[in-house]
Amino acid sequence: MKTIKDLDINDKKVIIRCDFNVPIKEGKIIDDTRIRAALETINYCIEHNSKIILLSHLGRIKEESDLKKNDLSPVAKRLSELLERDILFSEKTRGPELEAVVDSLKSGDILLIQNTRYEDLDGKKESKNDEELGKYWASLGDVFINDAFGTIHRAHASNVGIASNLDSAVGFLVEKEIQALSTLNNPERPFVVILGGAKVEDKIGVIENLVTKADKILIGGGMAFTFLKAQGMEIGKSLLDENNIDFCKKILSTYPEKIVLPIDFAVTNEYTNDEEYRQKASDNISIDEMGLDIGDKTLENFENILRDSKIVMWNGPLGVYEFEKYKKNTDRLLEYICNNNIKTILGGGDIVAAATQAGYKDKIYHASTGGGATLEYLEGKTLPGLAAIK
Ligand code: AMP
Repeated sequence: MKTIKDLDINDKKVIIRCDFNVPIKEGKIIDDTRIRAALETINYCIEHNSKIILLSHLGRIKEESDLKKNDLSPVAKRLSELLERDILFSEKTRGPELEAVVDSLKSGDILLIQNTRYEDLDGKKESKNDEELGKYWASLGDVFINDAFGTIHRAHASNVGIASNLDSAVGFLVEKEIQALSTLNNPERPFVVILGGAKVEDKIGVIENLVTKADKILIGGGMAFTFLKAQGMEIGKSLLDENNIDFCKKILSTYPEKIVLPIDFAVTNEYTNDEEYRQKASDNISIDEMGLDIGDKTLENFENILRDSKIVMWNGPLGVYEFEKYKKNTDRLLEYICNNNIKTILGGGDIVAAATQAGYKDKIYHASTGGGATLEYLEGKTLPGLAAIK
């Protein structure tokens, strides 16, 4: 992997594709994690006297009315606070005004260009990797750094398009993400995968790929019920992914020793946080009940398996994390992992958000910043943003 350290960036115009796709409400940034994650690469460029040109998307732009709410200028303000220096901001994503600012950049200056997806109003030029747009953005700089892990699984003009036209490399964030994930290709053993979340459908590719590599796959969340149904169990009103029962049957029969299912659940009668719940064995769920979290015996079983593991990959919460009552065992397993220093990679937005909320994120070995990108990597797919650099 060619990294920023392999390029001469001294006094050069360096275009950095960042992932500044942060949650913004009424012009205020609610979570600046992604901006902070970009600082290492930006600081490195400052130290090397580069003229820095930053690009990022924010949200989706389908019509005029999407423009204002996806204005990237609050990011310039936050970045300026974090770096304690001025940030220039270009309202224009192309044209003579932008080019004039780029030409005036001095060493150490930083310019943030407006949301790359403003170009999507014109025939989805950014998202469809319009050749001419990629070439144009590339013409603004001397070298290109892709540090946007969150979009590395997409071929857009601002990543693949620019990389195809300039000497390029990945930044420190992408390097760190890929290095962490690539340890799973040749893992220390036992290698344990924890999979939760809602639907089997979304995780088929990950299961198919990781079941061949992992020693155990611990299944929790809504997904578990389709596996139990495949074993002929009553799951009541629990989440069922009807179309994938046969897939679960196939996985269970091919890898019976690898798949570990919950033995009990926190069950209730309605999808709400307001009712009381009970702990029930997996084979004792009534037709009017639904499981909204794994049970305490399952937690204990998962902890016993994790105790000896050398590396763990965890995607998706084990219960309905949005409800206070049903986040309990996800939080307890996170706590167990942190207290026992179990080398764990968290991948996928929801579990990283859960770890952040519960205050465990900084104690985890690696928490990925890109949900979709991580999943595609774990499915064994080529990441176009990375391939364009190679
Ligand atoms: P994912 O995006 O696939 O990681 O799924 C996350 C979603 O899974 C969250 O919104 C959770 O509420 C949901 N989820 C987890 N456990 C359950 C469950 N037992 N029943 C229904 N939904 C669940």
